Amino acid sequence: MVGKSRSVLIFLSLATLALPAGALGNEASWLTGLIHVHSNFSSGSYSIEELADRAESVGADFLILTDHDLAVMAYGLQPFQKFLKKKYEKRSIISQGPEVYLTEIARVNAGQKAVLIIPGVQSTPHYFWQGSLLTGNLTSINTRREVLILGLDRAEQYRNLPIVHNPRTYYRLDLFQGELIFFALASMAGLVLLFNRPLFKVLGLGVILLCLAGTLNSQIRVPYPFDQYHDFGYRPYQVLLDYVAQNGGLSFWAHPESVYAERGVSYGPITMRTAQYPAALIRTDNYTGFEAVYGDKNHLREPGREWDAALLGYINGLRQNYPVAIAGSDYHSEGMSETKLNEFKTVVRATGKSKAEILAALQAGRVYALRQLTNYHLILETFKVIGSEGQTADGPGSKIESVGPVQILARVSFSDHESREAAIQLISNGREIKKITGKTPLDFSYNDTQDPPGATVYYRLNVSSTAGLLTTNPIFVSFPPQADRTSE
Ligand SMILES: [Zn+2]
Repeated sequence: MVGKSRSVLIFLSLATLALPAGALGNEASWLTGLIHVHSNFSSGSYSIEELADRAESVGADFLILTDHDLAVMAYGLQPFQKFLKKKYEKRSIISQGPEVYLTEIARVNAGQKAVLIIPGVQSTPHYFWQGSLLTGNLTSINTRREVLILGLDRAEQYRNLPIVHNPRTYYRLDLFQGELIFFALASMAGLVLLFNRPLFKVLGLGVILLCLAGTLNSQIRVPYPFDQYHDFGYRPYQVLLDYVAQNGGLSFWAHPESVYAERGVSYGPITMRTAQYPAALIRTDNYTGFEAVYGDKNHLREPGREWDAALLGYINGLRQNYPVAIAGSDYHSEGMSETKLNEFKTVVRATGKSKAEILAALQAGRVYALRQLTNYHLILETFKVIGSEGQTADGPGSKIESVGPVQILARVSFSDHESREAAIQLISNGREIKKITGKTPLDFSYNDTQDPPGATVYYRLNVSSTAGLLTTNPIFVSFPPQADRTSE
């Protein structure tokens, strides 16, 4: 249900993109964003105000803060885990108060004109213990299998996030709505019986007691069912992704290729270990996207990996939506892990610098992700697909129909307009179909011969250079079935 309304939304935004830019009333422009940034509300070093100033100084248009929602680890000694328990907690949005976090973002936004701050969280939905404290090999698994959640507006939505160790996480039993009315009417009938002959009095009392028990039972809420002592696979994650979608937020898998904790990182008396989780892209659904450009490993953008598998699932109607590629900084402080604030950029095409416009662009995939290793960065100047009748899909996330083969145009340059070596790879339906190398401004025009009746084809670009890399989200082309063409 939720997935459906989301894909309708995406379809609508794709449909509006197909209109000439003027029809939107506002010209769409490219906005540069910094996503996955921590403030001192959790593990970051700087205040939100300082981060806004720093983002402004590197020319960003928007900054998406993703402080940790809750940073708790707890281990109980089996079989007395309820009583003999050690809990470790660090600063987080929930511990500091989501109201305080949202109010501070609103305050900084009110005074800051250049950079729009959008609230988000980095969530650890679940982890589980392996080994034992007694044998000295206690290991927390999947603490770093995380999700970035953007665009939740209300403090309650943060407090109620379905994540392990959140005391507010409950499942409300899904009960028949008219149940309470039924109990109310039945207990009134019981009351009438109470003022009757003795036999009816007993019956009336029984009815009233039963109604009371039923009312209490209908209010019972079930605690979060995923404890930290078992591996539940991707189920706890899907619960969170569905919660975010139901609450109108966006969710991105954070660093699925991070190698940081792959071999285990010591953390006091315990070890944290999280294997890479590229499979999350295909094992889960109803999420918005993933960090395709992050840290030193960016293989998911290469042809034929899990991202392409999910994209193929989408065009073949097996998924409600496709994963949108973004860049993630995981920024904590200047110089930490040598990550500079301007290194990872997510560039979105939006009709205005508002939270609603930017989130809509992110959801619709009107986005490219880039990594900048020097003082200049790659720019996507052109990425278009021209249909057989001249109709144009302009930019990542756009969509056209074509009754015959299409032409793909691309052009990249550097932000300082200098000419340097770069390579552009054109990928269609999981395969590289063209690669060119040369000096910037580098462009190509490619006439694709594929024209599969009744199918959808997508095209996406990877750009590489010694100064950094760039990955676009796809352009989709649907080819009408043969029957529709002959009737035209
Ligand atoms: Zn982070």
